[in-house]
Amino acid sequence: MSAGQKLEKKAVSVMIAFYCRKHHHTKTLCEECSKLLNYSYARIEHCIFKDDKPNCSKCTVHCYKKDMREQIRVIMRYSGPRMLWYNPILAIGHLLRNLRKTKDKSFYLKKSQNNE
Ligand SMILES: [Zn+2]
Repeated sequence: MSAGQKLEKKAVSVMIAFYCRKHHHTKTLCEECSKLLNYSYARIEHCIFKDDKPNCSKCTVHCYKKDMREQIRVIMRYSGPRMLWYNPILAIGHLLRNLRKTKDKSFYLKKSQNNE
């Protein structure tokens, strides 16, 4: 797994846990949030961008299913800015990666075909 994928997983787990604690008032992740987290992990693992992975929020592929994407969007909008207070190093790494320009997805599709 690439560094980008690891960072994205870490960011997504922190953001979902934070959101769940504030909104669903459970000590551990509630069932709905665990489902969303597992789904996000799977999407990150199967991401075609691999090493050059942009943050999911900036991605051009939109691999999330519509309802899942809506849920994660709400969570990121809530947790994203608050991460600066709770986990500044992670949040800044995430923001910096947000600034990177994403290449067109055909570039990556071609690249992955050449590798095979
Ligand atoms: Zn929850």
